Amino acid sequence: MISENGLKVLERRYLAKNEEGKLIETPEGLFKRVSSFIASADKIYEPDKDISELEKKFYDIMYNLDFLPNSPTLMNAGRELGQLSACFVLPVEDSMEGIFDAIKHAAIIHKSGGGTGFSFSRLRSKGSSVNSTGGVASGPISFMKVFNSATEAVKQGGVRRGANMGILRVDHPDILEFIQCKKNDKEITNFNISVGITEKFMEAVEKDEEYELIEPHTKKVKGKLKAREVFDLIVDMAWNNGEPGIIFLDRMNRDNVVPELGEIESTNPCGEQPLLPFESCNLGSINLVNCIKDNGIKKEIDFDKLGDLVDTAVHFLDNVIDVNKYPLEKIDEMTKKTRKIGLGVMGFADMLINLGIPYDSEDAIETAESVMSFINERSKQASAKLAELRGAFPAFEKSIYANKSMKLRNATTTTIAPTGTISIIAGVSSGIEPLFAVSFIRNVMDNDELPEVNPLFEKVAKERGFYSVELMRKIAKMGSVRHIEEIPEDVRRVFATAHDIDPIWHIRMQAMFQKYTDNAVSKTVNFRKEATREDVREVYMLAYKLGCKGVTIYRDGSRESQVLNIGAVN
Ligand code: ADP
Repeated sequence: MISENGLKVLERRYLAKNEEGKLIETPEGLFKRVSSFIASADKIYEPDKDISELEKKFYDIMYNLDFLPNSPTLMNAGRELGQLSACFVLPVEDSMEGIFDAIKHAAIIHKSGGGTGFSFSRLRSKGSSVNSTGGVASGPISFMKVFNSATEAVKQGGVRRGANMGILRVDHPDILEFIQCKKNDKEITNFNISVGITEKFMEAVEKDEEYELIEPHTKKVKGKLKAREVFDLIVDMAWNNGEPGIIFLDRMNRDNVVPELGEIESTNPCGEQPLLPFESCNLGSINLVNCIKDNGIKKEIDFDKLGDLVDTAVHFLDNVIDVNKYPLEKIDEMTKKTRKIGLGVMGFADMLINLGIPYDSEDAIETAESVMSFINERSKQASAKLAELRGAFPAFEKSIYANKSMKLRNATTTTIAPTGTISIIAGVSSGIEPLFAVSFIRNVMDNDELPEVNPLFEKVAKERGFYSVELMRKIAKMGSVRHIEEIPEDVRRVFATAHDIDPIWHIRMQAMFQKYTDNAVSKTVNFRKEATREDVREVYMLAYKLGCKGVTIYRDGSRESQVLNIGAVN
């Protein structure tokens, strides 16, 4: 059953409307539209196949909120626009044509509800010479501002704001300016920014050495910086307002399935999907809350159901690639070479609560391992099964899998997406994040405020007999239940919220999911307002040591407008 908030989101953004803005589609109609359209891809491989059973399967997993594809698929499948992917990476070449081509391409993608990632690392540094005019280059950061304004102007026809990721390598000569470019909250607002960290840099940080800055177009050494000072500046800025994040570029390239096709320079906007230039990827997430069964004694994970869902979801996402209308010919071409898909999860924290496991416990980390290793393995089997009929992804022979006996239909199968909107539709906790609060105000869709009390908590409070309106108010005000004595100890422990949880547990959880995820993991490590720079630094180093592909942190109250607010629901 779709919750009231879920319905609101669907009505606002997803259901078809007529010219007067009146709804002409129901949620059932949406799932029907999407399932028939996506199932129709089977006809490409088996023209005579009766796809009604598959349509029903796809319909059921969405209608039951067991699985949802990323927003553009829900919005656009079977409609004129037809653009189904959430994630794109575009190259930014070191030339006027190159720069403005990228802006144009980004505008086209934003119009269709997709997000774009860019690396600005190829652009020559500020002040370096421009041969054709005899002038001097203005550098990556000034061009980022142009990208930002273009995004602002497009705003995706009121459906979705444009979202961008901007990346600069740590050895770019303009790195210090980049690290500080979002110091002021009001600048470059349509970008998330991350510093592309190299192994060389991290070694220099550890040994407290200098590292070289390289001018991209000449490959000459332009200067040197003390690695620790740069690292500390990143930490300082992130502590200040959450940006920049960091991504470990060399690590992403170590997992680049087809290095021959190019180097990974950037991720999509929320960081979970590293891609080659001009690649796109479509994501989908399984709702783990719906994968729990009662064995008569206690609740446990229903691996049979989870396995079936993985099989159907992989089939679904592979079909999306074939019926997708790509915004550019080049993207169509690149995407179909590797056929990357990103299956992930949502409702992980809610699942733990249902199982009675606190998020910040060894038990939770083990649960993450058993769930994600299962999904990862099963998704490979499902992809291999598709390859038997449809063939391996076209770049397979050039890929790192070429000598393996198992052919895969998809170069990657797993990604942990933020599930910002689809988790609201499903009415569960987002991605692998802990509950943000037991009661909170969510600012979505341009400041529309939706007060929410966690339904699981309300249920438990009523069942255990400690529910009262007064208590709910108190919790809403405090955000956390950990220190409210009227609430039984075990309940307080299990309903841990993001700020109750030590940042170290956040990172350990991210690292465990990363271990079994081909692409990357979207995760924000939440810090309390009082956290120090040293706390942030420690988490960054730990993320590096534990094999994460990037880190995003956020210290409560450090930005004027934050998406989630702990606050009273009066
Ligand atoms: P959803 O829940 O809507 O499917 P997610 O929150 O999981 O989306 O985000 C997945 C990816 O979708 C992001 O990393 C980004 O690439 C893209 N995306 C998210 N929000 C936007 C937006 N407002 N505009 C453009 N792209 C977006």
